[in-house]
Amino acid sequence: MFKVSHPLWRTPVSLLFRLILSINALLLATVAMGTQAAAFDLLIENATVIDVRTGKAIPNSMVAVEGSKITYVGPNDPDTVVKAGTVIDGTGKYIIPGIWDMHVHLEGTDLIEDNELLFPVFLAHGITTVRDAASDLGEQVLIWRDEINEGKRQGPTIYTAGRKLEGIDSLWKGDLEIGTEKELASMLDYLEAKKVDFVKITENTLKGPLFLKSIQEAKARGFKVSTHIPQGLTIPEMVDSGLSSIEHASYMLRLGADHAGIVAKVKSGQLTSAEANALYRETFSQEVANKAYAKLGQTDLAVTPTLIGGGKLAYLAETDHSDDALLQYLTKRFTSKYQWRIDRMKNDTAADKQARKDRYALIKAQLVPMHEAGITLLAGSDSAAINTYVYPAQGLHEELEIFEDAGLIPADILRMATLNGADFMGDTMRGELLAGKQADIVILNSNPLETIRATQDIEAVIKGGQYFSRARLDTMLHDAASRKQALDAARQE
Ligand SMILES: [Zn+2]
Repeated sequence: MFKVSHPLWRTPVSLLFRLILSINALLLATVAMGTQAAAFDLLIENATVIDVRTGKAIPNSMVAVEGSKITYVGPNDPDTVVKAGTVIDGTGKYIIPGIWDMHVHLEGTDLIEDNELLFPVFLAHGITTVRDAASDLGEQVLIWRDEINEGKRQGPTIYTAGRKLEGIDSLWKGDLEIGTEKELASMLDYLEAKKVDFVKITENTLKGPLFLKSIQEAKARGFKVSTHIPQGLTIPEMVDSGLSSIEHASYMLRLGADHAGIVAKVKSGQLTSAEANALYRETFSQEVANKAYAKLGQTDLAVTPTLIGGGKLAYLAETDHSDDALLQYLTKRFTSKYQWRIDRMKNDTAADKQARKDRYALIKAQLVPMHEAGITLLAGSDSAAINTYVYPAQGLHEELEIFEDAGLIPADILRMATLNGADFMGDTMRGELLAGKQADIVILNSNPLETIRATQDIEAVIKGGQYFSRARLDTMLHDAASRKQALDAARQE
């Protein structure tokens, strides 16, 4: 059915005149918006578009979508013709690109259905792309990624590291454990064959030269490389070796101490890991850190701060999570994994508890200096079944609130949660609202440049051209809650 959006439609005119006009409009569909054909599947008119690159709001704008692509973003044109009948009045609405969560884990070999039911929940929270920072379900995540890309499954676009590189006998489940350069090469062969989107490396048992070599070799194969920071290496030498992003800003605190000196003493055996950590804590200087940030700001390094997890643990005792909305979608089996971190903190003294809070505050205080130094920040939640109360989807919004509370302005935060993710992954089809890009769009009821909390005030989501109204999103959430209940009941856990 054809629907014509034209000022005359909105004035009382005779039915006959309407019919004539409608035929004319069809014939003359090519005249609107310059010389280009202007027939669209979906049109949002009279809206305020947020240009995340400049951080500017552009009122009286129109966004047109045809198929899976954005075909027009610009001033309102009342003569525009819509083919397939979806015209959205954007009056009072704010249009942003789909949101990216740059650090999630879709993990748990016994949580496959539990993770699957969450995909629509991500979309309902405006999150249209996630970066899975490795999982014990690596191969399953790759299948999900491909199914979503092929339109066989509803969910956010997934970028994934598959499985991560670690040393022998790592604490984490499902790692690709390496002890030699030969094993490194064969694991990278494996990841390459699996067509993972980036390489993740962590430091539980992988140390020193082989860690550095892993960065270099992954980089040489054309991968972006995201890592934790092992004790025996300095952040600058890792960046020089091709490190693309540091996961977790907690590691950045090392730059506030005599980082190179401490690393040298760890390497020579003069300091244990625990002693090094204590020294980093005791000798932190913001001034020293800022100087290091300034140097890193000249490089391509990105940092995914993931503050929320530390915050949740630091304030665990005084927070009642029993009414948290996201629990509706998390199976008992999923949240049972939360206990692990709670148990680890059981014997914390009052001083330990205070130290957690102080450390969380100090990491949070690094956001503005890192940003001002020119370091690219990526918004990521680290949501995962083993990350206690860091909820899928909602966790990213809470992370953005922390960014705002830390003093970053909403325009910058919005860029960190959209364009920066796309730029990092080299995804030129997403991250901002421009003609030719993938139609991943969120329609908000309030202005995200006033407060980033507005990104939770969602009127509709468009994913790859598919339109989800508020009612449809609510149905998706309801279905996810039902699915969770069914899984719980079937398992009788
Ligand atoms: Zn993680």
